[in-house]
Amino acid sequence: MTGPRTNGAATPWQAPPLAPFQADETLPARVDVVVIGGGIAGVSTALFLARDGVSVALCEKGRIAAEQSSRNWGWVRKMGRDPRELPLMIESMGLWRQMDQMVDGETGFRQTGIVYLCRTEADMARREAWLEHARPFQLDSRIVRGEALDALLPGAALPWDGALYTESDGRAEPQLAAPAIAAGARKLGATVLTDCAVRGVETEGGRISGVVTEKGRIACAAVVLAGGAWSGLFCRGLGLRLPQLKVLSSVMRLQPFDGGPEPAAIGPGFAFRKRLDGGYTIANGTATVAEIVPDSFRYLMDFLPVLRMEWKDLRLRFGRRFFTEARLGRRWALDGVSPFERVRVLDPEPVAGVLDAAAGNLPRAYPVFRDRPYANRWAGLIDATPDAVPVISGVDRLPGLYIGTGFSGHGFGIGPGAGRLLADLVTGRAPIVDPTPFRYDRFSDGTRPRPMAGI
Ligand SMILES: Cc1cc2nc3c(=O)[nH]c(=O)nc-3n(C[C@H](O)[C@H](O)[C@H](O)COP(=O)(O)OP(=O)(O)OC[C@H]3O[C@@H](n4cnc5c(N)ncnc54)[C@H](O)[C@@H]3O)c2cc1C
Repeated sequence: MTGPRTNGAATPWQAPPLAPFQADETLPARVDVVVIGGGIAGVSTALFLARDGVSVALCEKGRIAAEQSSRNWGWVRKMGRDPRELPLMIESMGLWRQMDQMVDGETGFRQTGIVYLCRTEADMARREAWLEHARPFQLDSRIVRGEALDALLPGAALPWDGALYTESDGRAEPQLAAPAIAAGARKLGATVLTDCAVRGVETEGGRISGVVTEKGRIACAAVVLAGGAWSGLFCRGLGLRLPQLKVLSSVMRLQPFDGGPEPAAIGPGFAFRKRLDGGYTIANGTATVAEIVPDSFRYLMDFLPVLRMEWKDLRLRFGRRFFTEARLGRRWALDGVSPFERVRVLDPEPVAGVLDAAAGNLPRAYPVFRDRPYANRWAGLIDATPDAVPVISGVDRLPGLYIGTGFSGHGFGIGPGAGRLLADLVTGRAPIVDPTPFRYDRFSDGTRPRPMAGI
């Protein structure tokens, strides 16, 4: 991982440290399934395939979890989700509860509750509307006000109107979880390769027959593409259209201290989540930056509905990334260096202004955070679909190809569930939930997918 850099801020820009992981050295000649990508979706898929007795090799171009899956806030939540995702998220929560035991490791999962703080009646009305959508799922989410809210998060300096609270939601440690799950998959016989970019696939009779990696070929009958922010480009190389854009989200880490709140919470201009080491992961609420790149034009019509809905939280920016992605997006040959090897780890610069604002907003709301030293800052590129719901699906046009991507900023929590569902789709087992909302074809069959309004 890169050493500390400063980008004009007192706190260094440094990617979060990843748990050590021992990868395999030797490429297998043949497996049943190759998983592309060592984020939470890919490692969970490999784990469940290996548990089902399927031979599997996972190829990661950089290090396990080095992109979104180690950079996120670490919230594991049902609350605030699109109802299309709720059945899968409920399953995923059950898997998180068993995960440490399943992999004989530490993912940091703890059930500590999540709180959405509301300053105004309009905020409350929005949260109450979500409760209505979630009612059929009989969650423990509820509105709390007054003393009940003070008991959950003592010491507020701002007068909250109330909050939406889910006691059974929780957190896990992004820098531990995917490496622990990958190690668990290896114990069950999966091969896990790092610094091993997949350049493309091979077919026979129109079906997947193998992958070409920078280290050689692996024959296989199925491929699961869990490439995060790279899945759209990988699909383009296969002649498949996957509308996907990236948004930049910045985070910082507060040093450990005693007496801070246990539940994670989000309020106007801040969000916090306690870490296993007693420190906090801090961000500026839902503020994100969308950089204008060639894909912004390519997929403009697909994303117009979400742009209309989210424009208040989104800052558009034009910069160097436009030219970097234009260069990377050119066609590549399977026997030459691919874009996936050119960028081992996406490590974008955090946006100083967004984080400085959060560092001011947080202690104004909860003075217990005043004058606490920050350790480091980083950012991640979130991959999003036009309806903010992932693709977890086979691809009819290319039998043997499965896609698990587009988690749109909330894939860490649902990752184990997504991995279970992908393994079910590949093996033909009865799927843990109805996969219809996640089908790849929704972008081409006239469905016109849209995000759910007001959640
Ligand atoms: C700042 C931030 C905060 C977030 N907060 C939360 C949160 O609190 N809760 C939550 O649920 N979600 C959150 N998310 C979203 C969550 O992190 C992602 O949805 C999730 O990690 C996506 O996992 P993934 O496995 O799909 O992708 P990734 O973790 O990005 O992994 C994809 C991997 O594929 C590899 N890869 C790509 N192409 C190739 C190739 N051709 N060959 C080999 N390897 C390849 C990449 O190197 C990468 O490691 C947040 C994201 C960010 C950035």
